[in-house]
Amino acid sequence: MTSTFDVIVVGAGHAGCEAALASARMGCRTAIVTLDMERVGHLPCNCSIGGPAKGHLAREVDALGGEICVNTDKTLTHIRFVGTGKGPAVQTLRAHADKTLYPIAMRATLESTANLTPIECGVEALVVESAGSGQEPRRVAGVRLCDGRELGSGAVIITTGTFLNGLMHCGDVKTEGGRHGEGRSEGLSADLAALGFRLGRFKTGTTPRIDRGTVDFDAVTPFESEDCPPFSFLNERLEPPRPLLPCWQTHTNVTTHAVIRDNLHLSAMYGGHIRGIGPRYCPSIEDKVVRFAEKDSHPVFLEQETWDGPSLYVQGMSTSLPAEVQVAFLQSVPGLEHVSMLRPGYAVEYDMVFPDQLNRTLEAKLVGGLFLAGQINGTSGYEEAAAQGIVAGINAALRVQARPPLVLKRQSSYIGVLIDDLVTKGVSDPYRMLTSRAEYRLLLRHDNADMRLTPLGREAGLVADARWETMCARREAIAAEKTRLADTFVHSRDNELLVGHGTSPITDGKVSLLALLRRPELDRESVDSIAGGVVPGWEPVRRSVAEQVEIDVKYEGYICRQGVQVEQSAQMESVEIPADIDYSAVRSLSYEGREKLMRIRPGSLGQAGRIPGLRPGDIQVLYIHLEQRRRSGLLQVG
Ligand SMILES: Cc1cc2nc3c(=O)[nH]c(=O)nc-3n(C[C@H](O)[C@H](O)[C@H](O)COP(=O)(O)OP(=O)(O)OC[C@H]3O[C@@H](n4cnc5c(N)ncnc54)[C@H](O)[C@@H]3O)c2cc1C
Repeated sequence: MTSTFDVIVVGAGHAGCEAALASARMGCRTAIVTLDMERVGHLPCNCSIGGPAKGHLAREVDALGGEICVNTDKTLTHIRFVGTGKGPAVQTLRAHADKTLYPIAMRATLESTANLTPIECGVEALVVESAGSGQEPRRVAGVRLCDGRELGSGAVIITTGTFLNGLMHCGDVKTEGGRHGEGRSEGLSADLAALGFRLGRFKTGTTPRIDRGTVDFDAVTPFESEDCPPFSFLNERLEPPRPLLPCWQTHTNVTTHAVIRDNLHLSAMYGGHIRGIGPRYCPSIEDKVVRFAEKDSHPVFLEQETWDGPSLYVQGMSTSLPAEVQVAFLQSVPGLEHVSMLRPGYAVEYDMVFPDQLNRTLEAKLVGGLFLAGQINGTSGYEEAAAQGIVAGINAALRVQARPPLVLKRQSSYIGVLIDDLVTKGVSDPYRMLTSRAEYRLLLRHDNADMRLTPLGREAGLVADARWETMCARREAIAAEKTRLADTFVHSRDNELLVGHGTSPITDGKVSLLALLRRPELDRESVDSIAGGVVPGWEPVRRSVAEQVEIDVKYEGYICRQGVQVEQSAQMESVEIPADIDYSAVRSLSYEGREKLMRIRPGSLGQAGRIPGLRPGDIQVLYIHLEQRRRSGLLQVG
């Protein structure tokens, strides 16, 4: 071994950067090995961070001490709230980052982080040794680089994204590579298969890029950036270097769809050139025209990729049609009639590893100390990757430091939902997070991610003092504001004020401001305005406090009910299943149930209950078996 580390991260994409920063910041000697240091944190598809559910994931990564939101705040060109019409549980931010500045800023952070060594090279194989006695299980001992060097480490995190045997398609033109302008990763797939991992083949796609100077902006609708809070909890307000940009909306039409339908046989996907399975929730424009044939229009958004460059990303038109067909369908879209295409869209297919081969810490069941995170696990999305990366990085560090692992439960976070879905249900197509996947989404809000997760990040040793103090100050300010509202009253003498704000007058005695805030017709601003008329010198609290107080107060009943549901489900979660359980000794399990339990090896009865196809009878049999073991003293149930 030319050099040894505690943790080695393979790949510097969104998963790899979070994993490496987490491990290094927790005090582990960490190497991050990647093919091209110029492409650290690259955004190969849209320039957007956030959006429904993805914004929740990004903020949770931030709350744990991660980098994606900090880096977005530094480099954003546009930001808006999304999901505002559906209430606080789903609303979040969607920002566009400058595609040149984002990787530069992320690379600067990697290169200035203590304990972290960036290495520009390909990793071609893992170094694995038996964990003693020459038999299973095995453990990872390092990696072998393409230049022949071997690096030793106690843990390895593979975050190779779309690169494992990556093959790009544009019509019938095939190019080997993980993404536009880059090579691919060979060797690792075969290595993982030789270790016994089950691999699959997925695909994702991206859209054409067009020249901003050839768009007719009178024919498209602008969406201005809004006055939003920052993505990162570390920042109190956004300070963009210049006025934020809009994005623009237009739409496809029947002519667009006819061009696409007439050329479907030329699309790599529909022409049978691609083996990989595509993302159900991120369909190509071909998929939309075929699946939603009844629709004669689909929305298209134009997003500026950098502050000053000409390139616009055409959101909603991911495609693997030939370049000339792409020009034809683009020029049928209102506002794009004379557009010139800078770069065609393309699809990329790549090897992935089925994630039901991982534990809830993202450590592989087959090889100790080996973690996988990001698109390699069958997800799609920068935010999904970053979420897995930080959990893998934390757990690799905890393993090296011989400390208990961090397992995020579904009721704690979207990250908990993501990882539980991946390792319990597996994937059949690229998994992207949706708010509907979280059964406790009213608890897992965009605004309270720090309250839920920063204490966990602090306990792991990842959250630095500045973030911890910021969260504690906000938590105290929220509690103080609820007290201030509860202890401040309006009386019938103030009825003129109340009626003036469209709410019913007080008939007898007094009402607290907190009770006023519960009234559907009053929001924070109106309660502050009433308070200002009643209490001399009343000052509203800062936005990040006011927002949380308003939601907590207005949704108190719903939040309490979800809390009860969490407690009910926690009982099943608390029945732990020992890692060494022998399912062949559990009598009366159905054949299918036994096979699934042996493959997934759930950590708790709750997780077992979420395995698709496992019957309630199997859960009952398993519970009785665990109880019998507990009573015989073999098992301490949590
Ligand atoms: C064509 C295309 C379309 C996409 N569409 C979308 C979309 O619409 N929305 C969205 O959110 N996401 C989209 N993505 C996916 C998005 O890029 C990924 O989800 C995200 O980047 C995954 O992050 P990751 O860290 O898992 O992998 P990546 O960001 O792909 O990073 C992988 C890293 O590993 C490195 N690497 C690979 N193999 C090796 C090796 N053997 N040795 C050393 N280093 C290695 C690479 O250099 C790279 O730095 C798309 C990606 C592509 C390429």
